[in-house]
Amino acid sequence: MPASPLAPAWLSFPADTSALEEKIWSAHTRRSSSGELTVAGVGVTDLVREFGTPLFVIDEEDLRARAVAFRDAFNAAFADLCGGVDVYYASKAFLTVDVARWVTEEGLRLDTCSGGELAVARRAGVSASELGLHGNNKSIAEIEMALELGLGRIVVDSLDELERIGRVAEATGQRANIMLRLTPGVHASTHEFIATAHEDQKFGLSMVDDGDGSPAERAVAAALSHPRLNLVGLHAHIGSQIFEADGFAVAAQKMLRFMAAIADEHGVELPELDLGGGHGIAYTEADTPRPASELAEALAAVVRSTIAELPIRCPRISIEPGRAISGPAGMTVYEAGVTKTVAVEHDGGTLPRRYVSVDGGMSDNARPVLYGADYTATLASRVTETDAIISRVVGKHCESGDIVVRDVYLPEDVAAGDLIAVPATGAYCWALSSNYNYLARPAVVAVREGQTRLMIRRETEDDLLARDMGA
Ligand SMILES: *Cc1c(COP(=O)(O)O)cnc(C)c1O
Repeated sequence: MPASPLAPAWLSFPADTSALEEKIWSAHTRRSSSGELTVAGVGVTDLVREFGTPLFVIDEEDLRARAVAFRDAFNAAFADLCGGVDVYYASKAFLTVDVARWVTEEGLRLDTCSGGELAVARRAGVSASELGLHGNNKSIAEIEMALELGLGRIVVDSLDELERIGRVAEATGQRANIMLRLTPGVHASTHEFIATAHEDQKFGLSMVDDGDGSPAERAVAAALSHPRLNLVGLHAHIGSQIFEADGFAVAAQKMLRFMAAIADEHGVELPELDLGGGHGIAYTEADTPRPASELAEALAAVVRSTIAELPIRCPRISIEPGRAISGPAGMTVYEAGVTKTVAVEHDGGTLPRRYVSVDGGMSDNARPVLYGADYTATLASRVTETDAIISRVVGKHCESGDIVVRDVYLPEDVAAGDLIAVPATGAYCWALSSNYNYLARPAVVAVREGQTRLMIRRETEDDLLARDMGA
């Protein structure tokens, strides 16, 4: 069967449906001589026999290597500018006790955005000074916890919250290390960024003058004059799945100029500037992320030239990659069940589209439903000579939008019992998982040098009923 007009323009017809495109799969994923996928030397059929499906498989060395790549690339690029860079892993992308240990072992710090994420980080033994706390609506209990632990930084999201943190710090006699999250009016996503004057979103302090200076200026003045608040710097996070450096560069420039204005007005050079996360990864062949080194060098060049024009020293820079560290390291392995071919009306006639139902779906990968995210997939348990047909991998939930992979060419003979692997599911999949339709959440297994380690066990029927007080 030839290329299908039903396929989106970005999807190319595969010469070989068993081929693995390097940029999409974790570094140690291969197809063995017998035809099945292996991760760090362990075959998916063995993994599935032991841990069941759906299964999240994490290539541990790949995740660690990406953490190291960000750490080394940014430290090298900024070494002569501000002594290096602190890389905070944005743990909301994928956090388990093991993951917190891995990234901190590789020299990263950890960003959290709830008491629950903080609890996981603490259980992993991450030191409080290496932890950040985000969120636009931190509870008093979360603020108290952060102060009691003495977190390295609490990223303050609003004037309201600044007051709250000040009050808790006064009441408990503690000091809070804070950063202010500003909205520099740069919104970046994938290949484009837009600059807007006004902010109409829930996060951050606006830099736009509202008649009484800007909320950002008022927050800086309030923080500097508060005896229990230690303002360590400013923060900006401009979006996610960003491939180009230009959006980051515009934000960095704007933030540095604002820091110079603060120095001019208050006589204080804030020591730190966080440029957020959002570094893109390849989910499909259409995505072409830049290596960390390219982004780091582009950003360092902008920071260098901007600082040269300003009467302040370069602040210590930090960044917060999430998906770029854990995303490509993970894949999901499903078992195929029901398949069918439908006739789709097209150009006065009909064209076939194959539906392959798998044993998970929107409960283990909400991103397609949530953002229309695209993924790809491959037949993971064998290779076949049959033709490729335009296919849609769908879940087993009671929603017609329950799509895992909207468009992919799969071999025509994919059938019940085959294993289907979906790459680049290491970030925002397990983290966003749910029990919709009372499906048990999958297990998460790490593979490293031929060894497996169960990170999160699969939920059981007892787990599903454990909090039901009528049961
Ligand atoms: C989500 C988030 C990140 C990480 O985003 P990625 O796209 O996973 O890199 C970093 N910083 C903040 C403040 C975030 O909200």
